[in-house]
Amino acid sequence: MKRCILVIDMLRDFLEPGAPLEVPKARDIVPKLKKLLEEARRAKIPIVYVCDSHREFDWEFSIWPKHCVEGTRGSEVVDELKPERGDIIVRKRRYSGFYGTDLEMVLRELGIEEVIVTGILTNICVLFTAADAFMRGFKVVVVRDCTASTSSELHEAALKIMEVALKARIVTSEELIKELTSRS
Ligand code: ZN
Repeated sequence: MKRCILVIDMLRDFLEPGAPLEVPKARDIVPKLKKLLEEARRAKIPIVYVCDSHREFDWEFSIWPKHCVEGTRGSEVVDELKPERGDIIVRKRRYSGFYGTDLEMVLRELGIEEVIVTGILTNICVLFTAADAFMRGFKVVVVRDCTASTSSELHEAALKIMEVALKARIVTSEELIKELTSRS
């Protein structure tokens, strides 16, 4: 089965201390996610970065502080997880990576059947992107220790919802790396 990894919103405006929408727990997942991406590149699994990228006047700023404005430093992926040659970047303006973007076309063109979801926030952009992937017929895997939220309650609740409603497979990065490396 052809699969890819989605890396959602691992951006400066969410991760850096003092950032407009700082999610401190997001920093905790960086080392494991970095390792997972290294293994995925080695196993030739496509990596798709799904990144918040707002217009100056974005409607979302009526409910959230201004963040990830297109072209700004804050909208960049953090240094430790920088996209590499061959990785794909899809920019989004809403919670779901599919809404108003070409993510579905990208996945279809790559022949993807299963998406492995990582990044933040488990209960917002991860959840809504996973839901939209499910509704388009993709199988969903969520990496428990490569996703994070503002609290562990919200993180766990979202994982549960994805497991129950989207039939998502919830795995650890260690389990997943074993799978990726044994298949290739
Ligand atoms: Zn946003």
